Amino acid sequence: MRTFTDEQKQKLLDLIAKWKSRLRLEHWRVIVEWDKEPNNGDDVTLEVYPMPERHTAHIRVGCWFSDAISDAERENAVVHELLHIHAEPIWETVTRVLEHLSPQAQGLINEELRARFEVMIDAIATSIVPLD
Ligand SMILES: [Zn+2]
Repeated sequence: MRTFTDEQKQKLLDLIAKWKSRLRLEHWRVIVEWDKEPNNGDDVTLEVYPMPERHTAHIRVGCWFSDAISDAERENAVVHELLHIHAEPIWETVTRVLEHLSPQAQGLINEELRARFEVMIDAIATSIVPLD
């Protein structure tokens, strides 16, 4: 199991608190799952799992603490994951609508929308926290 120092943990928790407030997500509980690996492997920086009905999101840590990641990239990643929380209710609506379509259409729209959401969220996160 991976371990994180108290200093590392505080660094991430402080950035989450800062951006939760700035992004008007104060009513959300954001819990870092320090003991769980990201589902997409360690090359993701962070991974978020929002549950809008509970106003709770879990964050898993990938390579966020890696020496290859700059402070700007770290802060950008926090903003990026928190923006996914805002996007999640939209995503849930889309998913319900998709259930009425054929599996082929579901797959196509699902894939395209996910890619477009990523591009949009990246653009917004990077306009808020520019990368060096
Ligand atoms: Zn993303």
